[in-house]
Amino acid sequence: MGHLKLHIPGPVEVSQETWQAMSTPMIGHRSSNFQDLYGKIQPQLQELLGTERLVYLSTSSAWGIMEGAIRNLARKKILCCMCGAFSDKWLDVATRCGINAEGLQVKWGSPILPEAVDEKLASGGFDAITLVHNETSTGVMNPLEEIAKLKNKYPDVMFIVDSVSSMTAVPINFDQLGIDVLLAGTQKAWALPPGLSVFVASEGALERSAKSQTRGYYFDFHEFQKNAEKNMTPSTPSIPHINGMSLKLDEFFTEGMEKRYERHQKTNQMTRNWASRHGFTLFPESGYESVSLTCLNNGAKDGGTVVDVPRLQSLMKDKGILIDGGYGKLKGKAFRLSNMGDETEETMTDLFNKLDASLDELGQS
Ligand SMILES: *Cc1c(COP(=O)(O)O)cnc(C)c1O
Repeated sequence: MGHLKLHIPGPVEVSQETWQAMSTPMIGHRSSNFQDLYGKIQPQLQELLGTERLVYLSTSSAWGIMEGAIRNLARKKILCCMCGAFSDKWLDVATRCGINAEGLQVKWGSPILPEAVDEKLASGGFDAITLVHNETSTGVMNPLEEIAKLKNKYPDVMFIVDSVSSMTAVPINFDQLGIDVLLAGTQKAWALPPGLSVFVASEGALERSAKSQTRGYYFDFHEFQKNAEKNMTPSTPSIPHINGMSLKLDEFFTEGMEKRYERHQKTNQMTRNWASRHGFTLFPESGYESVSLTCLNNGAKDGGTVVDVPRLQSLMKDKGILIDGGYGKLKGKAFRLSNMGDETEETMTDLFNKLDASLDELGQS
């Protein structure tokens, strides 16, 4: 069988142009060629993330920085906001790092609300908090701006935010939000292959990190800062990824960020329309649905459509497309369709046509 086009929420489909950019001949990572490359994308990254801070590149998946941020910043006690598989796991990761960690757990499908965070932080003792902006497993987008406002009330708490499946799909202005760490891996909304992460750290985060005895070397924020000042990375980075990222950034700004954000809104609305046409309800609580992917209930309690999800996946595979069958405990109970990355109205229409045909074959159109 040929290549299956990825419509799963990560990794997502990578364009031929990106693969081509990634096959640019190798250069030395301590050469001026590399400094020129990083120096070229640095201002683009800063504009994308609305920051005057230097943006760092880590050759790791997102979990590297998710764990690294904890090692650099959490000392006394960390609050982990938990609303799905990725945010839930962060508590476990913090505990394994030897940090005293407490969860603020909500039901999968529900968002993390600022009032609940405020209440927890008021109980005292926390010096860091983890939040997943867009919980990819449930399709919930948390109200980041409202939660970030709490930083004013709790200036000594380090706000660590995972935006793996939202960065580049919705505007996120680091300096304006006033958070301490913003991170993402490249295989989701960026539409690059897995293996590289992007992150920013506040001045306050660097100050906190300077006092950490446990930050290690590979994810030491000070190493990233010191090297980024010279347009370099602490260790040998995945240079092909950085060539790919340079192309993506050019594409983003050629399209225009506003247009890109609108495109995600539009293609996501198309997915919701497709769902409602077929009687699928959405898994997330109303008002907190993601715009980069959609998590659909398979036969909701309120009487939505029920399909044999593995059969649907298999019929879609026959048509050259890979879709998700529900993450973890949602397997078979929900399924997800991604519109992040390079997807357009045309490619989404093709997806829906093939889904329609597959539902026909299942006798469930
Ligand atoms: C995919 C994902 C991760 C994990 O990324 P890795 O690349 O596997 O480290 C973390 N957070 C969110 C929200 C994700 O979607």
